[in-house]
Amino acid sequence: MGIDNLNQLADGLSNTVQMPVLFVGHGSPMNAIEDNEFSRGWREIGKTLPRPNAILCISAHWETRGTQVTAMEKPPTIHDFGGFPRELFAAQYPAPGSPWLARETKDGVTSTAVAFDDDWGLDHGCWSVLKQMFPDADVPVVQMSLDYTQPAQYHYDLAKELAPLRRKGVLILGSGNMVHNLRRVALVSGTVEDFNRPYGFDWAIEANELFKKLIDENHHRELANYKSLGKAVQLAVPTLEHYLPMLYALGLKAEDEAITYFNDKPLAGSLTMTSLKIDRAARE
Ligand code: ZN
Repeated sequence: MGIDNLNQLADGLSNTVQMPVLFVGHGSPMNAIEDNEFSRGWREIGKTLPRPNAILCISAHWETRGTQVTAMEKPPTIHDFGGFPRELFAAQYPAPGSPWLARETKDGVTSTAVAFDDDWGLDHGCWSVLKQMFPDADVPVVQMSLDYTQPAQYHYDLAKELAPLRRKGVLILGSGNMVHNLRRVALVSGTVEDFNRPYGFDWAIEANELFKKLIDENHHRELANYKSLGKAVQLAVPTLEHYLPMLYALGLKAEDEAITYFNDKPLAGSLTMTSLKIDRAARE
C-alpha cells in the first residue's frame, strides 16, 4: 500500500470519529423546562449525535476580557435571568465539569492565553439547551467565554484552533441566536409567553435567509464581516454576543461537511431560532 493510500486510510478512520458541531438558537430560558417545538427540536437532534466524551459550550451569555474556560469539577447552574417563573429558578443541570477538557482547550489554543475560571459555571445559554439535549446530565461540560474586546473575525479564527477537539470526542456547541434584537421584540401581552410567538419582521427574515445562503455557500468571510451585509443584518446583529457562537461553529466546518438546519423559525418579531448541525453527511 502506497503512502497516499495510507494517508487516505488514516483520514477515513479519523473522520469516522469526528464529532459534529452544533450552533443552537436558544431563545427564551423557558425552553429549558417547556415541551415546545424548539425543545423538541433539541431533543431530536440530540438523538442523532454520537455520544460525546465531553461538551465544550460557547454561550452568548459569558463575555470576559480575554478567553476563559470553566475548570471546576462541578460547575453550578447559573440562573442568569429575571422575571421568570419559580420553577425555572429551581431547575438544575448537574453535569460534571471536565478539567481534562479545560486543559485540552487551553493547550490547543496558541493565539491567545486561555485562562482557567473557577467562578462561572453553566449559564442558561448552555444548560437550557443541554437539559433537553442531554437530559441525564451525564456528559461533562466546559464553557468557553467570549472575549468582548475582540472583533468577529478574531472569534472565527480562534474557533479553528478548537478543531482537533472534535477528533477527541468533544461536541462543540455554540449557543446564541442568529437574529437577536431584544430592543425590537414585538411583545403583544407584555409577558414572557410572547417570546415564543412565531412571528418575524421582514428584516429579521431577510437577514436570516441571507445568513443561511452565505452559510450554504461557505462564505464565512462575509459572515465575519457582517457590518457590510446591509440594513437588515445591522438590525439583526445590534450587538455581537448572540451572533458569535454561530461564527465559532462555522469556523469549525470543513468545506466538504454538510449543514443540517433545525428549528428554523422566527419568533417575537426580532429573533430567529435557526440552528444548525455540521457533519460529514446531512441526514434527513
Ligand atoms: Zn440569549
